[in-house]
Amino acid sequence: AKKDGRDKVCLFDSQMDAAVRDRRMLEGDLRAAVANGDIKLAYQPVVASSTTDVTGFEALARWKHPTRGHISPEVFISLAEDCGLIEELGALLLDQACNAAVKWPEHLCVAVNLSPLQFRSGKLIQTIQSALNRSGLAPERLQLEVTERLVIEDTDETVTQLKELRAQGIHILIDDFGVGHSSLSYFQVLPFDKVKIDKSFIHEIETSRSANAIVEAVIGIGRQLSMGIVAEGVETEKQRNLLTRLGCSHLQGYYFSAAMPPEEVPAFIADMQAP
Ligand code: C2E
Ligand code: CA
Ligand code: CA
Ligand code: CA
Repeated sequence: AKKDGRDKVCLFDSQMDAAVRDRRMLEGDLRAAVANGDIKLAYQPVVASSTTDVTGFEALARWKHPTRGHISPEVFISLAEDCGLIEELGALLLDQACNAAVKWPEHLCVAVNLSPLQFRSGKLIQTIQSALNRSGLAPERLQLEVTERLVIEDTDETVTQLKELRAQGIHILIDDFGVGHSSLSYFQVLPFDKVKIDKSFIHEIETSRSANAIVEAVIGIGRQLSMGIVAEGVETEKQRNLLTRLGCSHLQGYYFSAAMPPEEVPAFIADMQAP
């Protein structure tokens, strides 16, 4: 029995070693990818529900690993957070997004996802300012998506930075609303411009009465506070119609388009404008 136990421990240890080694390797590859500029943004359109006109795009990070193929941003963003790369990567992506958006028609915005860790460095305001200055993008065309993780880890400094950004005309969105520890009290803590309802609710909107009720309630509160409401993960015409009827202001999802590389954006815009 003793021997069995030891064997198990050994097996467990060697599996751990393999996992740790694998992560170290991926970390090294990520470091190189960031340094080489191999992490690229793809852009997913956001439309106004009333007209289905495109109002902007959300920038989503993509990494095509040389041997492993595409790696999910959920994986490499959290790896970047863990190994101290997120600040550098985040700054590069802000530059990339602003440089892309400045080439689009002026009424279109770009939404960039931010990690809560980017608020910790004390350099975020400066980083965003530089990205705007270098690209020439108007601050009103930049939206920043933050999750409830930021609000939980909320400090006075975070609030100060968010207010400073808003004062410059940048819009702040609360992302993935409804999952995790999202709470209606956030609406009082921080002045957000828009709320993004998490796709898990949108996917169940026709089948789950509670999902439907939650979506309806969030839209109602958003409207009362004059905030825009974005539904993400819209995949069907039924979902689109239902969300439009409920008064959701903006829609995003595969029903309209998946994220595309920047080269495809101009043709997409032209297509959407064609009669
Ligand atoms: P998110 O910000 O909630 O982004 C929405 C995710 O839903 C994206 O996944 C998008 O491709 C996907 N999606 C869009 N429409 C649909 C749909 O109709 N159906 C379904 N099932 N999914 C849809 P993606 O690109 O894999 O990104 C995953 C997450 O990684 C993002 O979630 C965000 O939290 C994070 N992320 C991505 N890019 C960045 C970035 O540049 N910076 C940071 N900090 N995080 C990022
Ligand atoms: Ca987002
Ligand atoms: Ca989201
Ligand atoms: Ca998400």
